[in-house]
Amino acid sequence: MTGTRRLYLETLGCSKNLVDSEALLNLLPDGRFVPVADPLSADLIVLNTCGFIEAAREENVERLLALVAVKRETGARLAVIGCLSQRYARTLAEEVPEIDLLAGVCQQAELAGALTELGAAAGAPRSLVPASPRISFAGCLGRPLLTPPHLAYVKVSEGCSRACAFCAIPAIRGPYRSRTPADIEAEVRELAERGVGEINLISQDTAAYGRDSGEDLPGLVRRLARVAGPHWLRLFYLHPALVDLPGLLDIFAQPRVAPYLDLPIQHASDPVLARMRRGHDRARLAALLGGLRRERPDLCLRTTVMVGHPGETAVDFAALLDFLAEHPFDKLGAFVFSAEEGTPAAAMPDAVPAELAAERLERLQLQQMEISAERHAALVGRVLGCFVEALAGVGDGLPPGRGVDPLADGPFPNARAALRTERDAYEVDGHLFLDDAGELSLGQYVEAEVLAADVYDLRGRLANTPDRH
Ligand code: SF4
Repeated sequence: MTGTRRLYLETLGCSKNLVDSEALLNLLPDGRFVPVADPLSADLIVLNTCGFIEAAREENVERLLALVAVKRETGARLAVIGCLSQRYARTLAEEVPEIDLLAGVCQQAELAGALTELGAAAGAPRSLVPASPRISFAGCLGRPLLTPPHLAYVKVSEGCSRACAFCAIPAIRGPYRSRTPADIEAEVRELAERGVGEINLISQDTAAYGRDSGEDLPGLVRRLARVAGPHWLRLFYLHPALVDLPGLLDIFAQPRVAPYLDLPIQHASDPVLARMRRGHDRARLAALLGGLRRERPDLCLRTTVMVGHPGETAVDFAALLDFLAEHPFDKLGAFVFSAEEGTPAAAMPDAVPAELAAERLERLQLQQMEISAERHAALVGRVLGCFVEALAGVGDGLPPGRGVDPLADGPFPNARAALRTERDAYEVDGHLFLDDAGELSLGQYVEAEVLAADVYDLRGRLANTPDRH
């Protein structure tokens, strides 16, 4: 098919998927595709999917069927890519014959070719999905960003070689593969030259970086911290079994590293940690967190926990609550166990009734709200580095449907600006709101003093003259 095609690309799921979408856009031949923000005006619709737990699959299938309805109306071609296709290509092809093309994860190079060739003729869905997941970083360097221009996600690796009992990600994304430090540095340098002020280092298991290639994470961070330009390097998904206190302190001693650590613990009761096959016990967590709080009390600690894992008793749950009270996290995401097909946990006995799991989730979230409020209140009077993420009358600067405007949907409707502090991750955490925005511009780096706090958000004022980042 010749001429320029109007492309609607929608990305569901995690930041790794977003990077895959950006890499795909980067590999499409110049001048053959023009992005559009509305699927109704597209010749080609591409849905990049997530499929790691039931709830995500339901949301993705619902969105897919909505785009199938658009296709019926407009005659556009429809491609479904990413984790849901990687995991369920055959089912999708059988049950959604309107799909024209299926591709799995990290297939951006093949996909760019296949999308260019995708003709007008309808027929059975064509599938590029390989039996085992591919690992590729093609198209990452120099890619267009789907995030606000002042921040970017950078993959340090792909896949995961751990075997947490509840997790389907290794089966979907494949075994662990680190990128070379040179590749990552080149990408960070190119982004910095483009004015990107925040680099988010992501993977399925960032703490495992280099274990397959003789490198290590502190070494990588030391190297990236020497790249001039970005204000922040932010690290996500550090499995507690693979980090140690000296290594973490080394990382946070580097310039530019945001004082923010995402350390998913999942649980804190030894019997449950064992059933989850997390590879460590409660004592290790306590030593790590105790050491971090002692040596770096300024750090913002985020975690993820799961309730309702098979075998979790009332005693285990109480142990988790006690641990979180004894070792408070600033930010916490909590989920209920989802029995994932093909995972060991899905076949385990002693399932926790859904109602009881939901009740445990609620109790845990209520406890955490008090903890987060207390930790936030302690920030009053502090001056924090921030990026301007939304301005009254301007919004967040992103096309409709992408991003959430914190001013439009936030707790302080009369605020004039929403900033995101060094202690808050994009799209995950809260904001600092200003009543007076002065002459600020989107993506600008400023410093703000915290005047008041609630559970998730802060109020403040500019601390000094804006730094024209
Ligand atoms: S480390 Fe994370 S991605 Fe890997 S198996 Fe465990 S939960 Fe899944």
